[in-house]
Amino acid sequence: MPELPEVETVRRGLEPVMAGEVIARADVRRAGLRWPFPAHMAERLTGVRVERLRRRSKYILADLDSGETLLVHLGMSGRMLISGVKLGAFHHERAAPQKHDHVVFDMANGARVAFNDARRFGAMDLVATAEAENHKFLRGLGPEPLGNTFHEDYLAGALAGRNTPIKAALLDQRIVAGLGNIYVCEVLHRAGISPKRKAGRIAEARLRALVPIIREVLGEAIESGGSSLRDYRRADGELGYFQHAFRAYGREGEPCQTPGCTGVIRRISQGGRSSFYCPQCQR
Ligand SMILES: [Zn+2]
Repeated sequence: MPELPEVETVRRGLEPVMAGEVIARADVRRAGLRWPFPAHMAERLTGVRVERLRRRSKYILADLDSGETLLVHLGMSGRMLISGVKLGAFHHERAAPQKHDHVVFDMANGARVAFNDARRFGAMDLVATAEAENHKFLRGLGPEPLGNTFHEDYLAGALAGRNTPIKAALLDQRIVAGLGNIYVCEVLHRAGISPKRKAGRIAEARLRALVPIIREVLGEAIESGGSSLRDYRRADGELGYFQHAFRAYGREGEPCQTPGCTGVIRRISQGGRSSFYCPQCQR
């Protein structure tokens, strides 16, 4: 499932073909994905200019010159296929629609962007731009982990006295938006904090140190997505799946990569999700 860094990578990949560009034709090929599409979606997307592409949590938001914003969630398997435009060294012809291309945007600049989603857990909706933050997808979300309102004082205050494990607290989208299972495992491993430790029982200095670590882990993944993006562009214009090298996630039974640590990564289940951690250096 794409997490924040992957969604940011997709947003960055779409920017050169969509931002500032007019959608000449939107082809909506089914009635909906996870939820029904909004009424007259094709008409509302045709002939409008995409003023900017932004991201909130794991959603991509396209602000349109019609005063509406298109919200896109990639779901479990959603990806964006770009064709019909010069990408890196290769020119990709506008691709014929593929199986599971559910919404296709033909841009006035010649690019074709197809939203392909085999499992159909993705979502799209249209909302007045002024109301976007109040949309049911976005309402109640905590601060962006890479934004200015997420800082040491905020996190220490949000976690003070909490009796829940730190893993669950960081996954709580009301505390911080967009962190998922994989990156929370990575963050806690780098911070040397056990995923089982109660959030309210962590010394304040260690809690505060989580903020720069969260930014660092996400920043590195976005950076690495940027390099994958260049590869993907060279390959086939597909955006959506990037494999990063994780230090803890998915490494059950492997030696811990923390310098000087002789521990072995263990997997436990917390709230129905797998937590990967090193019992030796994560306390
Ligand atoms: Zn370790």
